[in-house]
Amino acid sequence: MTTFYPGPSKVYPEVADYAAEAVRSGITSLNHRSAGFMDIVRETVRLLHEKLDIPTDYHIALVSSATECWEIVAQSLTDKTTLHAYSGAFGKKWLDYTQRINPQAVGFNTLDKQSYEQGNAVYNALVHKTDGSGTICLVQNETSNGTQLTMNKLLRIRREFGGIIAVDAVSSMAGIALDWEQADVWFASVQKCFGLPAGLAVLVYSSRALERAERINDRAHYNSLLFIHENFRQFQTPYTPNGLGIYCLMRVLQQVPPIAKVDARTQARADAWYTFFENELNQTPTSESRFRLLITEPGLRSRTVIAVEGSEADIKAIKEATKEAGITLGNGYGQWKNTTFRIANFPAITDDEIEQLKAFLRNYSLTF
Ligand SMILES: *Cc1c(COP(=O)(O)O)cnc(C)c1O
Repeated sequence: MTTFYPGPSKVYPEVADYAAEAVRSGITSLNHRSAGFMDIVRETVRLLHEKLDIPTDYHIALVSSATECWEIVAQSLTDKTTLHAYSGAFGKKWLDYTQRINPQAVGFNTLDKQSYEQGNAVYNALVHKTDGSGTICLVQNETSNGTQLTMNKLLRIRREFGGIIAVDAVSSMAGIALDWEQADVWFASVQKCFGLPAGLAVLVYSSRALERAERINDRAHYNSLLFIHENFRQFQTPYTPNGLGIYCLMRVLQQVPPIAKVDARTQARADAWYTFFENELNQTPTSESRFRLLITEPGLRSRTVIAVEGSEADIKAIKEATKEAGITLGNGYGQWKNTTFRIANFPAITDDEIEQLKAFLRNYSLTF
């Protein structure tokens, strides 16, 4: 079974062995405050710094999911004004979660003209504050529609805004190089680009974020950032952690190349996918009107999730046909549920699998 689902997504096949190793060697039965377990946490954190090129003065904690990270940011890091700029369903969902905790938080859709203008007014007020207050929440890679926030745009926001910037990088961390210094908080769950089973998330935060957390001093939750930080400093966790997931993460990190190399490969594959849909498929006379890229502006296009649009009937038909051929495409999401399919461009997917899907699509558009 070949899967291009953008989460849960293809797991590295080696994970089957790593999981068996963890159980057989007794790692999954280790007390999480024992030296043996703490060594695994320490090594996992070290490897995250090394392989993902995370600056040494950024802290790393492991939690359960990206959704948990949304709440951690809202509980432990958000002071007065919080602004969410989003471009799709996950970003909107994050705003909804924040507003349940912090009803004053505001958000806007960067792809909607009217919403953008309103949001921009809040943004301009925020950047004029000189006391370092305020939080801006951004989604680096919007998995629902295959849009991305470029590092250049993030750089600009960083230059203009003196508060805390938190970035959801769930479907891009470990798939592309991130410019860590341009934000204070980054997080991702591992079932996307890390190629692991769900149930674990990586939370990266700067010293500035920690200072903000200390000022807010939220200690009302088991997952208050201060508790998490105090525990992780000793390579422990406030609660019994997902030991199996942490061990598999450590083993996968040992296996993967440094992020610069992964980034180059992701970029080349993304370019090839976009060329494929823009040029190659459209050379056949019938296909042009049936499938097209959802995001027309090249600068907005994600490098790790490609969204392809078509009529409801065409989307349904191609999903069924691929399924019969043993290939799973990602369903559409949110408002694009029935009119798009998505292709994950995640590191665990092999060149052979990509070729298999391209061959299928070529053939499909010729014979349909
Ligand atoms: C998948 C995803 C999430 C949710 O991750 P969970 O691990 O289910 O909490 C959040 N944001 C983005 C952009 C995602 O792709």
